Amino acid sequence: MAVAIAVTRERRDGETRCAVTPETVKKLIALGATVAVEAGTGQGSSIPDADYAEAGARVLPDTHAVLDGADILLKVRGPTAQEISALKAGAVVVALLDAHREADTVEALRSAGATAFAMEFVPRITRAQVMDALSSQANLAGYRAVIEAANAYGKGFPMMMTAAGTVAAAKCFVMGVGVAGLQAIATARRLGAVVTATDVRPATKEQVESLGAKFLAVEDEEFKNAQTAGGYAKPMSAEYQAKQAALTGEHIKKQDIVITTALIPGRAAPVLVTAAQVATMKPGSVIVDLAVEAGGNVEGSRPGEVVTTANGVKIVGWTNLPGRIAADASALYARNLVAFVDLMVKDGALALDMDEEILKAAAVTHGGQVVHEGVRA
Ligand code: NAD
Repeated sequence: MAVAIAVTRERRDGETRCAVTPETVKKLIALGATVAVEAGTGQGSSIPDADYAEAGARVLPDTHAVLDGADILLKVRGPTAQEISALKAGAVVVALLDAHREADTVEALRSAGATAFAMEFVPRITRAQVMDALSSQANLAGYRAVIEAANAYGKGFPMMMTAAGTVAAAKCFVMGVGVAGLQAIATARRLGAVVTATDVRPATKEQVESLGAKFLAVEDEEFKNAQTAGGYAKPMSAEYQAKQAALTGEHIKKQDIVITTALIPGRAAPVLVTAAQVATMKPGSVIVDLAVEAGGNVEGSRPGEVVTTANGVKIVGWTNLPGRIAADASALYARNLVAFVDLMVKDGALALDMDEEILKAAAVTHGGQVVHEGVRA
């Protein structure tokens, strides 16, 4: 029997993205699946219900009707308790589960007997690049961070020579040069800013320079060994952090825009900009803290808010930046999902091989157990 794929509306925290687009409905059908989509699913991404129907999906107004008999539920964020209770036993759920933090959702999925996969756990191996949702979303977040900064900044980014005089180029400092940081550098450069960037991983130096920005970091022995085998940053020593703060502190003073993106997997985000450093910045300067949901890189940033400090610096703490560029974020995420679903569908039927490398790494619950070691711990 054809595998039945369901997509319900996102209900959490005003999530604007969606897990399927008309393009991916067609791709899922080409895999041999049937697709049911809840009415209103694409609203936040400007996709009308009629476009899903035209692509071949059944568009239904009722969540239960969409989930009835579904083999696979695709979502952006974790399903709600009601959605989980409407799933048939053994149904597969694929979402950005935020499984380390969303303990209640994981427990509900486990006790419902669902097989749940977290897209954030897809390993970053070459074969899985096409399903790497962390990268597809971080790239857009980096872009959007610069757009938000430009919006909050009362001056222009590019140098402009006019009859009334010259407008100076904005100085933009990007802290943390992973996927989001690299796109932030590229975007700020395209807008005409003078861009500098820092990271603790030596590999980033060349990447920063190849984008036409200047690299700034404490390049000591610890820096030379700051990258894990997996390509992530290690937590740095207190001594390194002090040297880093002394170097970046002098630099931050002169910046108009600071974008912070630094994360360390499984830990709170490192504080890279102290309140004292923010106090040295010029009035009208803007900081965008992309790490705000992981505790923040900037002292004084608050999730979901723009804080204006006593010295007139705006600290932008928007959460879910990909959701502020929802149409593109949905399009890329939905393609990530098609590639992932392709791993578990053979000849149009659900064929789960829990020993398959990528499925194994992304599995959170299966057969009434929490099967992901990190989440279980
Ligand atoms: P991330 O979101 O975990 O962290 C963002 C950046 O913050 C990283 O560059 C990190 O080095 C930096 N950082 C951490 N602590 C810092 C500090 N104290 N000061 C300054 N910067 C600090 O990173 P990411 O975007 O997920 O990328 C992590 C790695 O994964 C990179 O090496 C990237 O190239 C790699 N990657 C590989 C693939 C793939 O092969 N498929 C895909 C995407 C990313």
